[in-house]
Amino acid sequence: MPFLSQPSVLKVGVPEVSIHFDAAVLGHFERNRQSSFWSRESGGQLFATIRGPEWTVVRATGPRVSDFRRRFRFFPSRRDEQIEIERLFREGLHYVGDWHTHPESRPTPSYMDLHSMDEMVRRSVHELPGFLMVIVGTELSGHGLWISFHSKSGKSERVYLEPDAQLTSNHT
Ligand SMILES: [Zn+2]
Repeated sequence: MPFLSQPSVLKVGVPEVSIHFDAAVLGHFERNRQSSFWSRESGGQLFATIRGPEWTVVRATGPRVSDFRRRFRFFPSRRDEQIEIERLFREGLHYVGDWHTHPESRPTPSYMDLHSMDEMVRRSVHELPGFLMVIVGTELSGHGLWISFHSKSGKSERVYLEPDAQLTSNHT
């Protein structure tokens, strides 16, 4: 099941925050990989508990039936997204970004991915320093996950797994 076997969290560092990914979240990414070229893109939202600069991503939602899915495009239902953000906020979880899949082994963001992330960060009114974008590729290794942090200052940077994170590579 796991994208990585151990440790149970995946830690990535960016200047503003330290981000941990819960094993359940990585398992959700893995189950939703576009394992075949013909399967469709999917995605959803990322929610975290936040203690100062420590973020722990504990929930990855989606895909929902209301989403419109195509092989190379993913159009989430914005209205349902907002309802989900408000519902999980009442459980103490903060919306921290989005994830979606790509039909490539080592994913990189498309122009549209970067553009919509910029728009989202610019329009956001919450007080977090930025948002995460996760793209799930098909390769079961650190290279198979694109993780970037998009800060409110307009900068974005790719973030990498800590070297001691152990990834499974023999899972199919
Ligand atoms: Zn994309």
